[in-house]
Amino acid sequence: MGVAPATVTATVKRLADRGLVDHTPYISVTLTDPGRVAAVAAIRRHRIVERFLADMLGYPWNEADRHAAAFEHDLPQEVEDRIFVALHRPETCPHGFPIPAKETGVMEATPPLYDLEPGEVAIVAVPGGTDPEIVEFLDTLGLRPGVTVQVKEKHPFDGPLVLSVGGRERTLGSTVANQVHVRRTA
Ligand SMILES: [Zn+2]
Repeated sequence: MGVAPATVTATVKRLADRGLVDHTPYISVTLTDPGRVAAVAAIRRHRIVERFLADMLGYPWNEADRHAAAFEHDLPQEVEDRIFVALHRPETCPHGFPIPAKETGVMEATPPLYDLEPGEVAIVAVPGGTDPEIVEFLDTLGLRPGVTVQVKEKHPFDGPLVLSVGGRERTLGSTVANQVHVRRTA
């Protein structure tokens, strides 16, 4: 993550002092229950700020996270709440990832598209850091955040997926299908 080991040690210690992680030196770092609630709240805030940048300020979905980190941490909770309401309580960020409910610490799973089995239907989410050339390629297949796909076939031994996208059959290799994420539909 481009962070010096000493910074990680100091940060983990600070989080442990605040009761957000359990830390066994050289063994593991795990979130405590309050830590999970705080982590999910940070993700919720980030995704609401991305929505604000995309829906109100007009940034394209694949640039929606560019400025979020610059101010999301200083945003007062009540301002975040008002932005959420002003945006009509969106369900996802512009990349298609679900905005978790407030203060529950619960996150909906968003597995890679490649994890799906034939017959499964899901809604596409494309991570913010995805290579722009891959985003462009996905776009030519109609694969954008919020689009519904169904898996028709999955070839064995890491072979490609055959998908139905908007009624058209599309083939996607495992490398790219592992970089796209999905929300399973019921
Ligand atoms: Zn996002």
